[in-house]
Amino acid sequence: MELPLFRHNRRDRSVVFKEYRAEGGFEALRKAITGMTPAEVQQTVIDSGLRGRGGAGFPTGKKWSFVPRDLPGPRWIICNCDEMEPGTYKDRVLLEHNPYSLIEGMTLACYALGVRHGFIFIRKGYEKAAENLARAIAEAKEEGFLGEHILGSEHSIDIDLHLSAGRYICGEETALINALEGKRPNPRQKPPFPAVKGLWGGPTVVNNVETLANIPAIIARGAAWFKGLAMNPEGAGSKLFCVSGSVKDRACVELPIGIPLSDIIDGPCGGMRLGKTFKACIPGGASTQFLTAEHLKVPMDYDTVAKVGSRLGSGAVIVFDQDHCLVEATLNLITFFARESCGWCTPCREGLPYVKEILTRIETGYGREDDIVILREHVKYLNYSFCALAPGAMAPLDGLLRHFEDEVREHIVKKKCPLKR
Ligand code: NAD
Repeated sequence: MELPLFRHNRRDRSVVFKEYRAEGGFEALRKAITGMTPAEVQQTVIDSGLRGRGGAGFPTGKKWSFVPRDLPGPRWIICNCDEMEPGTYKDRVLLEHNPYSLIEGMTLACYALGVRHGFIFIRKGYEKAAENLARAIAEAKEEGFLGEHILGSEHSIDIDLHLSAGRYICGEETALINALEGKRPNPRQKPPFPAVKGLWGGPTVVNNVETLANIPAIIARGAAWFKGLAMNPEGAGSKLFCVSGSVKDRACVELPIGIPLSDIIDGPCGGMRLGKTFKACIPGGASTQFLTAEHLKVPMDYDTVAKVGSRLGSGAVIVFDQDHCLVEATLNLITFFARESCGWCTPCREGLPYVKEILTRIETGYGREDDIVILREHVKYLNYSFCALAPGAMAPLDGLLRHFEDEVREHIVKKKCPLKR
């Protein structure tokens, strides 16, 4: 079965404009501009069941439908390419191979929503991807697929590339909007959601790279085709899974949504490394709960993974084996989140360093009997923070306490990490 996202990929280089065109690239845009109304494009995306691939899994067409059509003044689309969730590198791989699907998808989204101007907000450090995008924008303009009067029509659409100054919080959509406006990137209060009031106060749709890159295939081949790519009725489309940790072949692979977790590990990733045994994984980037061996047959779609107490998130699967200490792994993630807190709200600014301190003492043999209770309280308290950073940071800790409390307790009782000599 041909999956949409990696189908233009070359082995060891980026696809070039001519090749993308020869394989049907930009024909979905032509089809929309010449034969579909903006409302029809939006309805096709709604019918396709496409959900946001950045991590939250919010239905894309539904998000688009929140944009008020009758307000004066411009509306905007921002592509969020501030990919910085630990373990997540799918958007980088996608763009290093093929920047065109994103440019075509974003232009289609602009057409559907009546947007004149879109922005791609790209993470610092993604130089190759940024270079590819700058080239793709110039080529699309030159060939009449972007810019003034696209394909001779009355529609004019521009896309600008904005390089982030580089902080994790900039990926939070409202902090990103502040950053783009040249302000300090603190998150804004939601609601109002950006779809209603975002960039410079105008309606703004913020979509992830992978989400937008799916749109050309959805328009070219139809909503039913896209839905049918999934392995189960709960899902729709394919997903990029970027796998790291204790597998033989760490890779970013495109697979149908709904594929069982074990098929990802044992299939394209070649199984566990060096004969190790699967202990746990984080299925969707650092802000998702651990899954354990009992979850290996779970279909990887948004609803089913949520039902078993985690999230599909960004599809970044981090695999741990029997020799990995999950207290140490969680501490590593919390250290990242504590460092990246923007400091705006108290639970996040004060809570994350405190959680880090407790996990550090447990890992180094100084844990106290009541530390587990304090950690549990923080999983609750940190959900009352201003944005999703602190609740996301609590997800692996929540999973640790839910599935591996005995391992945490063993650290405290033995006054050392049981997996270290
Ligand atoms: P969210 O669930 O609050 O919102 C998801 C999207 O839906 C947003 O665009 C939001 O504006 C929109 N939305 C939700 N309800 C809406 C409504 N009623 N009206 C209009 N729009 C609405 O999640 P979030 O805070 O945007 O993102 C958190 C997620 O980001 C986490 O799940 C995490 O996995 C992911 N994340 C990903 C990365 C990465 O590198 N890919 C980094 C950090 C976090």
